[in-house]
Amino acid sequence: MRIVLWLAAALATTASAGTVSSGGGRLSKYAGNPWFLENIPEVRYCIEVDEEAFGVPRAALVPIVEEGLDAWRAAFAAAGDGWYDAGELEPFGAVRLATQRFILQGACSSDLPLRFQFGTLSEEQRAYFANANDYVGAAIRTDYDLTTMSSRGFVYLAPLRGPLKPDLATLHPEAWTAGGSFALRLVLWHELGHIFGIGHGAGGQTNEMSELMNERFPEVIVTRGTVDQVAASPAMRESLLEKRRPVELFRSFQERTIEGCDFDAPVQAGTLGIPIEYRCSRVVVKRDQADVFAMQQTGGPAEHFGTLRWSHNQTNTAMVWLNLPEEQRVFTRYPDTGDALAYKTLLGELAQSEVVKNGSYRSKDGRLNIPVRATYQTRGKRTIVAIQQGQFNDGLFPGL
Ligand SMILES: [Zn+2]
Repeated sequence: MRIVLWLAAALATTASAGTVSSGGGRLSKYAGNPWFLENIPEVRYCIEVDEEAFGVPRAALVPIVEEGLDAWRAAFAAAGDGWYDAGELEPFGAVRLATQRFILQGACSSDLPLRFQFGTLSEEQRAYFANANDYVGAAIRTDYDLTTMSSRGFVYLAPLRGPLKPDLATLHPEAWTAGGSFALRLVLWHELGHIFGIGHGAGGQTNEMSELMNERFPEVIVTRGTVDQVAASPAMRESLLEKRRPVELFRSFQERTIEGCDFDAPVQAGTLGIPIEYRCSRVVVKRDQADVFAMQQTGGPAEHFGTLRWSHNQTNTAMVWLNLPEEQRVFTRYPDTGDALAYKTLLGELAQSEVVKNGSYRSKDGRLNIPVRATYQTRGKRTIVAIQQGQFNDGLFPGL
């Protein structure tokens, strides 16, 4: 798709203002932390808009904000966190994000933990956010409670006219409404990503996650070039939104079933211990294991032949990091990860560009137990190799 190449090229050009993700000062150490963790069951939020300057009525913004929150909630629910052994992290057992119930309030008051401001900034916020004209969008954390590790702040999207209009020569004058408001939805997904702890540069170099969370994504998506091209093609718009939908960005971490009748006979008999008359396979892939079934023919009864089990994800590049304040009362037990950074660091949700997993395949009859290594990439590509009698065999699961 042309737009993909075009976006990649635009995002790679020289840096400019971009977006900011959080406040500074003593909070900077925790600037990358998610705004809310699982100890916070609900978050009240409000929506404020300068309809004249922003160009979109409040009634149209309500479902777009809800969609954005739902999109990340679905993504994190599917991604999970396979980092911890049982009992290592209490009381939650894992770092789960976007678990909150988000409750829309009628009016915007400054005590709300989350405010969406479309084309509006209070006097106080303007002082805090002095160079507002440099931004198309921003997620600004104004308070962080070190005990509960919860935040207060606002998401700001700039208006297309008036004194807060961004200083961006290429800004499309109808950027927030053209093409079914695709740019508004995407920029909001970007800013919400920050609220859930995803920083710029997440996801590696070349996938949709790294593109959506690129520092320059908001300003690139609202340019005349992008907006005119996407608005002219409903198919391109659907593709653009679909590929960057947060749940898609986490796709390789979801449970799925792969079926096929393309067994490689030596692999089947030798590595998996499945008799040669079974021509079809079904592999049910979960986060930490995969169950291998085989059928004699398509539609025939599936018999369970073995299970692949994964140990920890072997990686150092998580998508979300948590820095743990000494004052925190959220986690009562956590692994000692060392104090190299002078404060506790917890590794959270995983969705990096590549994950390498080690594990083993054990046949149901117990006769086979072999080491297995898999690599996953967020674009959905994966390879699984088995080490058998000292040799790599990369045809373990054709088509998987
Ligand atoms: Zn950003």
